Amino acid sequence: MRVLFVFFVSFVVSSLGACAPSTEIKPPEIAYGRDLCDACGMIIGDARFAAATLMTDGKSLKFDDAGEMLMYWTLASFIGVERVPAKS
Ligand SMILES: [Zn+2]
Repeated sequence: MRVLFVFFVSFVVSSLGACAPSTEIKPPEIAYGRDLCDACGMIIGDARFAAATLMTDGKSLKFDDAGEMLMYWTLASFIGVERVPAKS
């Protein structure tokens, strides 16, 4: 009976490993000094204030300030804004 239990646990653990997603989710990379903020269009230059979010479709939004990212999510949740246009 004990051997059967160990076999069952091994089977469950190996099955869970097979269900794990094969693609690793990584945070978006920001090219400081080159990437533009998706909210205001300014160049993202300072890593201390920068923020980014990874969308479910694999695209990313990058911001030069975490407050702008929070504002994006606030707008998105209350009025359904999908993407804040950059100022021109
Ligand atoms: Zn900005």
